[in-house]
Amino acid sequence: MDLLSMSAEQSGEFVRLRRDIHRHPELGFEENRTSALVAEKLQAWGYQVERGLGGTGVVGQLRRGGSARRLGLRADMDALPIQEATGLAHASCRPGLMHACGHDGHTAMLLAAARLLAATDFDGTLNLVFQPAEESLGGAVRMIEDGLFDKYPCDAIFSMHNMPGIAQGRLVLREGAMMASSDYVTITLHGTGGHGAMPHHTADPIVAAASIVMALQSIVARNVDPLQTAVVTVGAVHAGQANNVIPQQARLELSVRALDREVRALLQQRIRDLVTAQAQSYGVRAEIDYRSGYTVLVNDAAQTALAREVALELLGPQRVELQGPPLTGSEDFAFMLERVPGSYVLIGNGDGQGNCMVHNPGYDFNDDNIAIGAAFWVKLAQRFLEPGAG
Ligand SMILES: [Zn+2]
Ligand SMILES: [Zn+2]
Repeated sequence: MDLLSMSAEQSGEFVRLRRDIHRHPELGFEENRTSALVAEKLQAWGYQVERGLGGTGVVGQLRRGGSARRLGLRADMDALPIQEATGLAHASCRPGLMHACGHDGHTAMLLAAARLLAATDFDGTLNLVFQPAEESLGGAVRMIEDGLFDKYPCDAIFSMHNMPGIAQGRLVLREGAMMASSDYVTITLHGTGGHGAMPHHTADPIVAAASIVMALQSIVARNVDPLQTAVVTVGAVHAGQANNVIPQQARLELSVRALDREVRALLQQRIRDLVTAQAQSYGVRAEIDYRSGYTVLVNDAAQTALAREVALELLGPQRVELQGPPLTGSEDFAFMLERVPGSYVLIGNGDGQGNCMVHNPGYDFNDDNIAIGAAFWVKLAQRFLEPGAG
């Protein structure tokens, strides 16, 4: 029997498991039930299991043969603070919490692969990494800080994320930068408040803020190479209480993204310079809190080539995109790829279930992907840890 059929044959159990995880969503670093379930399954299939790495992370290790090659496969486990509105039988039973990014599916796909791999011949060390808190909290960094790659060294690491709007089961690969860096900036403008009727006795932070919001738009338009990608979004403006009072302060909150480390640095420099100079010109003082979020996710050329070969062999050229477009979203798997070469793969979620994008209350993971995703992982592992590969 071929790998896809074998994977499809056992997928019923993993569809049930996925729906069970979906019914019981847990926020980042609170994945106690989910990680217990993952650990229990891995143990039952003969994996050496460590829990509690990076808070609620789990690593399952399986060694076969004498090869020194080591492969990492990573899935994320956390849910989001969203009230589910799918109306599905397996909808979340926890008010205000929902698996709206499909991490329930990623966990189920990797577990389905783990089960098949436990019954497969390979040569080397397989490290299955189930990480907590992908959504904004940086669970990947916590696992790395906790010694993930010291305890479980990997020669390569791969991860997969579902994507609505791409045909179900289609695999999309990309060499180079694939997901953006994501930085958060809070700008507080300290002015001099006073009576709205006597602005000449004040230093108005609202006028300065308005000017800064407009001036920030010139960074992407005029400073960044037009062939590069950059986003500067002012997502929040807070100032004032009453129509006749000029406030003491105004606050802006920005989301800043780039697909290149130099562009990322340029954005920071220009934002700092421009905000400081603009504020000064209005007689107010700018306090800039620039926080680095997720780094740019860069897929390694050689490992992406391997993933492409495996995808093509598994699904054929009609269902594989060899070089998909980059995305301006961000992903903390980027930090693992800074340590270990690898590749991040997208799997099409189709347009079922309300045609909803991830993070939408109507979204659901497409269970038909469990068999395909698991088969891809197994084939990739077999290829990487091929007996005689060294
Ligand atoms: Zn997400
Ligand atoms: Zn996600």
